[in-house]
Amino acid sequence: MKRLLLHICCAPCACYPIRLLKDEGFEITGLFFNPNIHPYQEYLKRMETVRQLEDKEKIKAIYLDRYNLEEWFRMVAFREIKPIRCYLCYQTRLETAASVAKKGKFDFFTSTLLFSKFQYHDKLKEIGEFAGRKFNIPFLYKDFREGWKKGIEISKELNLYRQQYCGCIYSEKERFCKKLKESKLV
Ligand code: SF4
Repeated sequence: MKRLLLHICCAPCACYPIRLLKDEGFEITGLFFNPNIHPYQEYLKRMETVRQLEDKEKIKAIYLDRYNLEEWFRMVAFREIKPIRCYLCYQTRLETAASVAKKGKFDFFTSTLLFSKFQYHDKLKEIGEFAGRKFNIPFLYKDFREGWKKGIEISKELNLYRQQYCGCIYSEKERFCKKLKESKLV
């Protein structure tokens, strides 16, 4: 059985990839590493939801509970405009995942970010592959978006908390700030 480290951005996005990868015969270990989730209470809530999913789907997960908010903001400072901040956000998470996968002697690593229709999918693939080369561990590319509807159904069946914004405080503003939406700046 091939051992796969699955970076989990949040529980709802992980539902479809976990079922698919299990069907394909992978032994899955999840990795929760998401310093991009703000504020802290929201971060805790999403981490707790991943613990529930771990239990319900009978997988193991590693929690890199390094909530380095300050470092994350330093990284995106003066580069807060989309898509630049998202590219940096992918890079920090995928390179950490690659490094953990290498140390843990996994065969592959990948990310549930590839499930979301709201992410820059092609860039994720590029950054994942770059991280794979940097840490000498294969990045398993999958277009999990094919299971978008199915994934939402599973997350509802499992009664998982489903968040309303991507993660960072900028995405929270973009989701809820009416003035911004009306001006079509987001
Ligand atoms: S919108 Fe999402 S992917 Fe982009 S920087 Fe914020 S948390 Fe990261």
